Amino acid sequence: MRTISKAQAPTLSPLNIPHRLLLGPGPSNAHPEVIGAMNRSPIGHLDPAFLELMDEIQSLLRYTWQTENPMTIAVSGTGSAAMEATIANGVVPGDVVLVGVSGYFGDRLVDMVGRYGADVKKMTKPWGQVFSLEELRQAMTTHRPQVLALVHAETSTGARQPMEGVGELCREYDCLLILDTVTSLGGVPIYLDEWGVDLAYSCSQKGLGCPPGASPFTMSPRAQEKLQRRPGKVANWYLDMSLLGKYWGKERVYHHTAPTNMYYALREALRLLATEGLENSWERHQNTVEYLWQGLESMGLKMHVEKEFRLPTLTTVCIPEGVDGKALSMKLLQEHNLEIGNGLGELAGKVWRVGLMGYNSRKENVDSLLAALKQVL
Ligand code: PLP
Repeated sequence: MRTISKAQAPTLSPLNIPHRLLLGPGPSNAHPEVIGAMNRSPIGHLDPAFLELMDEIQSLLRYTWQTENPMTIAVSGTGSAAMEATIANGVVPGDVVLVGVSGYFGDRLVDMVGRYGADVKKMTKPWGQVFSLEELRQAMTTHRPQVLALVHAETSTGARQPMEGVGELCREYDCLLILDTVTSLGGVPIYLDEWGVDLAYSCSQKGLGCPPGASPFTMSPRAQEKLQRRPGKVANWYLDMSLLGKYWGKERVYHHTAPTNMYYALREALRLLATEGLENSWERHQNTVEYLWQGLESMGLKMHVEKEFRLPTLTTVCIPEGVDGKALSMKLLQEHNLEIGNGLGELAGKVWRVGLMGYNSRKENVDSLLAALKQVL
């Protein structure tokens, strides 16, 4: 054995993380009971107790999404991994995929869909607006896609895409419907089956009040049939649902070492949500955000999105003339331990993004933010 110089080993003090109130686009603060669940010792990823926990996650996710889809699981990774799983499994090379883009995450869908060999058609709206059913119909008639992909809650703009009638439209055109529910799951009404959504994904760190790392994924029997019929293998081994389905399903075949503690956390976050009740959680998010809007308006601040389409989970606040938005959010962080988000893409420098999600969607957090804002503005 060679001797290694001591000087090469970094000497650090034990981990010290500052306490922050996370009122940005995510992550949000996790529920203390969820953090408690993460502190348990890991067990084997094929231990019967762990397999039982996976079943519980599946049924809790079905409730949270309001779906009966058998193939409803958590992907080991963040929301982007579940997003990639959705595209890898739902899109076949050569498919015409129509993507609604009115913000940063619509553009990410376009990028990902292109990487999986689709013929991407982009339908655009100014950032902060949403697509009407008529506009969707027109684009479907023009492009005749095999897949339509929409973002339900566009985190870069704070707009909520209405979903009524979209599923019927997709069936009329024999097209699969993909929905990004990363910033809506748990905090915004979602009726996945009623809306006819075929593939959806989300994250753990927003409306579910859990740290990032285990991300909800679901696919309808219609989407599963397409997966079974596809000509070649799914291009991504890690996220191939025909393999993952054998770990989450009856076979229980080893696929990868599940991040056990993340799954403990997700299970607890979903259990807490089910205990509160979905409708109660949605109502809490709506009441809290309306309280925020009133407070901001009484300070003379304006919201970027028309009220009808505003998300209860994420609000874009227009930065007043002459204010350096980034400097102000840094001041909030450094002087008040409070995080809000800056604008992304087209809205960079124009808005702040305030998230009230999951465990953080409470009036006392709004009070803390408004009080801090009054001091720094
Ligand atoms: N889609 C939307 C709408 C998002 O807001 C995000 C993240 O904020 C993602 C996808 C990607 O999720 P993650 O950052 O967890 O990978």
